[in-house]
Amino acid sequence: MSDALYDLTLVVPCYNEADNIPLFYKTATECFEQAGVGIEIVFVNDGSQDGTAQLLRRVVESARGKHAVQAIDFSRNFGKESALYAGMQVARGNNICLIDADMQQTPHDALRMYRLLMENADVDCVAACQVDRKEGFVLKLFKRAFYRTFNGMADDISIPANVSDFRVFRRPVRDALLALPERERFSKGLFAWIGFNTLEIPYEAEQRAAGTSKWSFRKLFRYAATGIFGFTTWPLKIAVWLGSICAVAAVIYLLSVLAEYLLYGTNAPGYPTLACLILLFGGLQLAVLGVIGEYLGRDYIENKRRPIYLAKEHLDSTKE
Ligand code: UDP
Ligand code: MG
Repeated sequence: MSDALYDLTLVVPCYNEADNIPLFYKTATECFEQAGVGIEIVFVNDGSQDGTAQLLRRVVESARGKHAVQAIDFSRNFGKESALYAGMQVARGNNICLIDADMQQTPHDALRMYRLLMENADVDCVAACQVDRKEGFVLKLFKRAFYRTFNGMADDISIPANVSDFRVFRRPVRDALLALPERERFSKGLFAWIGFNTLEIPYEAEQRAAGTSKWSFRKLFRYAATGIFGFTTWPLKIAVWLGSICAVAAVIYLLSVLAEYLLYGTNAPGYPTLACLILLFGGLQLAVLGVIGEYLGRDYIENKRRPIYLAKEHLDSTKE
């Protein structure tokens, strides 16, 4: 066993969640206290503009002598994935739970998942799979297409559809995640990549207690791209296929033009065909270049080896 101080660490990323944090804090502490589970809560303020930082400072102060609460304050918005990373880094629990601040994922469910983990010695991670998400038709279609594409292309991993970041796992899983150094983090893929025994349980997300979701369609699209470009080199190989198909097509076309000329003596009318072909190949080449550029850009960013986040402040209710 490790020298962990608590049974469970709740890692809570917060971006403009000042209206939700008090409720979350109260519910979580009460729920786990009643259950006799010793917890620590790590709030990560991901560059909020709504006073979350000040609120967290007060929460840590009021927790002194009662609860173990840490608050990390980022210097700007680095994204949820970075917030989760920071939280896991400072976590001192034997087990870790990743949970949102907006009460869509309740501490009671977290407790249920924790108990499941404790009851099943061979399970390393319990993950919540969202059933029946209350989302628009287009979004649902887009997500389904994403999972299909991702699992079809990804080289050695596959991610189950609708699996969420709402998870409870043992410390070695946390260590494995922290050992993956990438800047562009896509946790669904990272969890799949590290392996470990994962138990998926269905769960229905609640309505947000307050505020709105921070995901826009654009952000989701970028997230999906991070997943695909981060976990497979398949798009790079498209060039080989496209090139080969075009070459074969070109030979067939050439033969047909030649046959037409020899049999009927017709001069192939060239201009429109030529224009179309130039456009087609120009487009294909640019698209393939774009794919290469995607990888090059990501490689460039990873190679700068900048930190995954920058924190201004780290408070801890158990320390002076
Ligand atoms: N979040 C964050 N940084 C961001 C966006 C979101 O830390 O840039 C946090 C947010 O405060 C919440 C969690 O990530 O606790 C999930 O975000 P949200 O509720 O917007 O996503 P959804 O539940 O709609 O998937
Ligand atoms: Mg939410």
